[in-house]
Amino acid sequence: MNLLNVRTLFPSDDGNRQQRESFIELVKQIVEGVDELKDPYIAHLKGEKERGPHFYRELTATSRIPANGRPLDRVNEELIKLLHGHPYHTKYFLTNILPMASTPGIMGMLTAFMVNGNNLWDVYGPAGAEAEVRVVAMMSDLVGYEPSESGGYTTWGGQGAIFTGLRIAINKHDASIKKAGVPHNLYAFCSEAAHYSLFKSMEATGLGTNNLIKIRTREDSSMDVRDLEEKMEQVILRGGVPVYIVATTATTDAMGIDNIEEIAAASEALMAKYGMRRPHIHADSALGGFFAFFNDYDFEANPLSIGEETLMALAAIRERMKHLLLADSLCFDFQKLGQTPYSTSLFLVKHASDLKLVDLEPDETPYVGHRGYGDYHTSYTLECSRMGSSISILSALLAFGTEGYRKLLAQFVDVNIAFRKALAAEVPEAVIVNPHNPGIITLFRLYGDRNNGYLAEYEGLRTKAEIESENRLNEMLFEILGRDRGMMFFGDTKKHLYVPTADRSGEIALYAAKLFVISPYTQPSDVDAIVGFLKQRIQETYAAYDALTLKEKEHDKVYI
Ligand SMILES: *Cc1c(COP(=O)(O)O)cnc(C)c1O
Repeated sequence: MNLLNVRTLFPSDDGNRQQRESFIELVKQIVEGVDELKDPYIAHLKGEKERGPHFYRELTATSRIPANGRPLDRVNEELIKLLHGHPYHTKYFLTNILPMASTPGIMGMLTAFMVNGNNLWDVYGPAGAEAEVRVVAMMSDLVGYEPSESGGYTTWGGQGAIFTGLRIAINKHDASIKKAGVPHNLYAFCSEAAHYSLFKSMEATGLGTNNLIKIRTREDSSMDVRDLEEKMEQVILRGGVPVYIVATTATTDAMGIDNIEEIAAASEALMAKYGMRRPHIHADSALGGFFAFFNDYDFEANPLSIGEETLMALAAIRERMKHLLLADSLCFDFQKLGQTPYSTSLFLVKHASDLKLVDLEPDETPYVGHRGYGDYHTSYTLECSRMGSSISILSALLAFGTEGYRKLLAQFVDVNIAFRKALAAEVPEAVIVNPHNPGIITLFRLYGDRNNGYLAEYEGLRTKAEIESENRLNEMLFEILGRDRGMMFFGDTKKHLYVPTADRSGEIALYAAKLFVISPYTQPSDVDAIVGFLKQRIQETYAAYDALTLKEKEHDKVYI
């Protein structure tokens, strides 16, 4: 019997040519295997994938560890099969913030994997530590933090950044909370359009989600700062302490950007009035922070020859992004607009000393760190072992440079502007419901009478039943677009703006379909095909909806 030599499952320890070549051959097999599945005119990889109603149950029933390992090329075949039918970022991939991993991003990951360092401690992962310090300085400088004072690390997503911001906020209020546990009069604030990460963090820290106060949004999905002031004051008057404000820059659905300057000024003034400390402000810039690449773009000279309308859109975004440095902490989700693989989120704090608030004492880390050797030990992260994802971030930053990111983002904005124009001209019944948000996302909504009912909804002139009926129409569009997502992949949201109802039955969220420009392969010249595809699906939706409302009328008669 041929016994397996387990050493053949590893890269070499001496750099010998034979093992190198078999490694490269395996990588080549994967890359070629994926290439064979590509088709630029659909939004997924080709290949057979039957996912019947019992798909996962059958997998559970049949999946067991093999007694004997298979040759690596056979395992690769199995891996490539996993990718059959997988969503893929062609020009028709328009669904959400789900980017293609760039080549430098992938090379950075590969580099990290080749040494498999542990980013917990520079003795175990010196490459990761070095890259992390470099990218923290680079991104600090970009937003206007002082790199010699700021700090940060890579973490588990924009959500992890929001969570750590909250931990810091709580400990800033009272450092004894670390030992004594959280009191129940601490409150956090974010807008109605904020990501649910803060909601989860409130649960996870034990503060409880009742202590999360949601602030109304303006029509552009940004936080209504007057409402923030009022709600903070109500909390204080009831004996509560505001400790944390999450300012979303920008929102994941509408690309609304909170005004950090106003939020900082208003909260500072209010807290001073009561002799209290201003809450920790976290800018949830996971998605939008990358537009800070335009913070010092010369809009006058316009060296990249960006088109007029795109330039205006970028200038409007900059008006908000230039205030990022007023936040105490923020985040860059490189797996979003940073063009790197999952998970490569970077959490930044304006003052590195804030990390001390959530750090361990030396005698609590007996295995690693705080020794005579090694200078960099991340005992303040919630993770213990950490991947060296900063290496991938560094690779992307070096390869794209400021110019590369600016060009890519400007292209996304170009496409979005072209889409809005073509949609308005070709399918006027699809009403754009985030018209005041320049950027890379368009939300559009259908109305049963094919007229623009958006303003009436926004101004609270529609009843709950009326809005729900429009929402149902839009849900039908979601279904039809979802059915055909293999051809073009659109997104949707059931939580756009919350609007008041004419019959005073509370606020209700609007449903809207979404175009999210995220593929580097989508260009303005593709917009006609995209709008043509949408037009057909919208006509189909109206036909189905008209049939449905007739039936409903009959149904009502039976009961009235
Ligand atoms: C994506 C996103 C998050 C969550 O980030 P993850 O990386 O998915 O954890 C939070 N806030 C905003 C604004 C986001 O866009």
